[in-house]
Amino acid sequence: MNIEISNIRTVMVCPRKFWLESREKRNYNHEEITREVIRFGGSLKYAELSSEIFGATLWATGIEINANKEEIIIISWRKGKRLYKYHYYEAALYGYVFSKESGKKVRVIFKSNFYEQEIPWENFVESALVILRNLTESDMPTPKINSECKFCGYSNECLDYFVKSDNIEFIKGIGKVNLSKLKSANINTLTDIVKNKEKVQLILGEQKGLKVWAQAKSFLDEKPVIIKKPPKLKEGIFFDIESYVDFHYLFGILYKNKYVPFIAREKNSEKEAFIRLLFFLSENDLPIYHYHSYEPNQFKKLIRKYGLNARFENRFLDIYSIFTNHIAVPVLSYSLKPLARYFGFNWRTSLNGMKAVKKFEDFLLTGEEKLLEEILVYNEDDVRATKLLWDILRNYMFYI
Ligand code: SF4
Repeated sequence: MNIEISNIRTVMVCPRKFWLESREKRNYNHEEITREVIRFGGSLKYAELSSEIFGATLWATGIEINANKEEIIIISWRKGKRLYKYHYYEAALYGYVFSKESGKKVRVIFKSNFYEQEIPWENFVESALVILRNLTESDMPTPKINSECKFCGYSNECLDYFVKSDNIEFIKGIGKVNLSKLKSANINTLTDIVKNKEKVQLILGEQKGLKVWAQAKSFLDEKPVIIKKPPKLKEGIFFDIESYVDFHYLFGILYKNKYVPFIAREKNSEKEAFIRLLFFLSENDLPIYHYHSYEPNQFKKLIRKYGLNARFENRFLDIYSIFTNHIAVPVLSYSLKPLARYFGFNWRTSLNGMKAVKKFEDFLLTGEEKLLEEILVYNEDDVRATKLLWDILRNYMFYI
């Protein structure tokens, strides 16, 4: 079991995910050089060091170190605006591993653009070790639906678990209040919901009840179920934005099956890239399809930010809301990736939103074109996946 300290936040969100991740095989290549630096002194940007504990290997990775004869300073670079509780456990475990393996005094500093803070890591070691001991001694924890399931590589296994246990708590948008209403009416399982369609609609309201019924049925039948007939969707433009910390660096369009990116290579070029996008949209007066609310919201903000007089609001159409109101699919999350993957779409890169931000940051630092090219592939796949869902809405009868 390889426990990566930088993953400790996952324990707070989903212990099962942390438990599973700790059992995956990983390669660590910087441990030898790290041991030399802590022994003889020096600096290292990407340090890696491990220590055995509770029958597992605890890994400190992704940190910078500066070492001399007496002490080691560990620096963990962060992106956020403030520190959270898990940062203290993380610092405690970095301190623990380096102190145990070197016998030197260890200081741990967390830095971001917004703060720089030395953490009194010794104060948190005991609590952090209790968390680790519990995890190493436990069997695989049960799934716990949370906001990160949509990005999680284990979602299929968790879905299987929920369906096999005939559990209704994981039905999209069911909520605690509705759950207790159903339970009071003795509707406790997916099977109960499917058998009692009218009763469920009576309890939850016609539309909500219909959606919950269709979702339960799609899990049990293991295939999509129509909630109501989707509207006729016109040909259109597919749109997705990639954003960095304080500007949008890529406006990706799919038009007549051709990918057209509008790129801002630095903050100062955002306006120019956005205006080129506006020209493109003005010349091609078609519906603008996007997935969820981010794109139209950011679009409006940019119009305001640059004092532009452009009216496009009525052209935006959200494939997410059209899809979720018309078709239920046996997935844990209706985020773009799990949903499009269900219908066979494959992303060509391993990027996700967070990784794309990191990749773009690396591009800003190094200017390496191949980093930007990878983001373009990722963004193109996002718009193509949105188009796939649009295709399914238009031809749903072939998929159901
Ligand atoms: S899908 Fe959700 S519940 Fe399952 S392991 Fe991932 S985060 Fe946890």
